[in-house]
Amino acid sequence: MTAPRNADLHCHSTVSDGTLTPEALAQRAARNGVDLWALTDHDELGGQDRAIAAARALGLAYLSGTEISVSFAAQTVHIVGLGFDHTDAGLQAGLRATRSGREQRARAMSEDLARVGIAGAYEGALKYVDNPELISRTHFARYLVEAGVCRDTNEVFRRYITEGKPGFVPHRWAALRDALRWITQAGGVAVIAHPGRYPFSANEEYALFSEFKAHGGQAVEVSTAAHSPADSVKFTTLCQEFDLAASRGSDFHSPQESRFDLGQLPALPAGVRPVWELLQARVLR
Ligand code: AMP
Ligand code: MN
Ligand code: MN
Ligand code: MN
Repeated sequence: MTAPRNADLHCHSTVSDGTLTPEALAQRAARNGVDLWALTDHDELGGQDRAIAAARALGLAYLSGTEISVSFAAQTVHIVGLGFDHTDAGLQAGLRATRSGREQRARAMSEDLARVGIAGAYEGALKYVDNPELISRTHFARYLVEAGVCRDTNEVFRRYITEGKPGFVPHRWAALRDALRWITQAGGVAVIAHPGRYPFSANEEYALFSEFKAHGGQAVEVSTAAHSPADSVKFTTLCQEFDLAASRGSDFHSPQESRFDLGQLPALPAGVRPVWELLQARVLR
């Protein structure tokens, strides 16, 4: 494989909490000059066949992908998996189990929002949901904007549905070592998603990287929408310290909501090993 010049290995479709279909994302990626793409819906593989077919029709190199919700040190951490066999039974079962609590959590979120005077949020959020197994906080955020409670989804995540705010319901996601096992046993590479977003102490962050490495994790997102230039420098250093490869992914969800479009992030800094060097044999064309 010639090295990709514009890899984008993190984004979401209507199969989770994005607003574009897998086909529309493939077209947008190709139009934006992406030359290695992965669709990484939350806890779902339901868009993979569509993404693979759409990418193939466009001549766009593709890696299978998902983003697994994990609970670690009383926080939610996201682990991206890349280049696995998306028909693997263990991975599919693990993701199904991870998805299974979302419905109940959504109803509890709605009840909590009703306590501060916001009625009907569950039904409202459902209007934005394509995949009944994947109702997410993003769908609630879109409804709260529609209902005039907030001006945009960023404001929703500042005022509601995050820890300590109305509508937040703590949830137990997958264990880190289970998520890593599902990905690696299906032949994939595990990546810590947007590490700059977690409110960890230095000790907790060190524990995350240590356990991730110990259980077979191989890479870290360095270039991603949530990162400042200082974050990229910091996680470049951590990649070197833990001998982990680096990934690049926009985390694109929607033309209306996302700060970075597909393929428009900063390049990986010098001095890191790009994760695609570990995945050459897994690229679909
Ligand atoms: P869930 O998996 O249901 O907890 O929803 C998590 C999703 O909410 C993330 O993948 C993002 O798409 C979105 N999200 C979480 N926090 C924020 C935030 N501060 N600003 C914008 N979107 C957010
Ligand atoms: Mn999301
Ligand atoms: Mn994420
Ligand atoms: Mn994401």
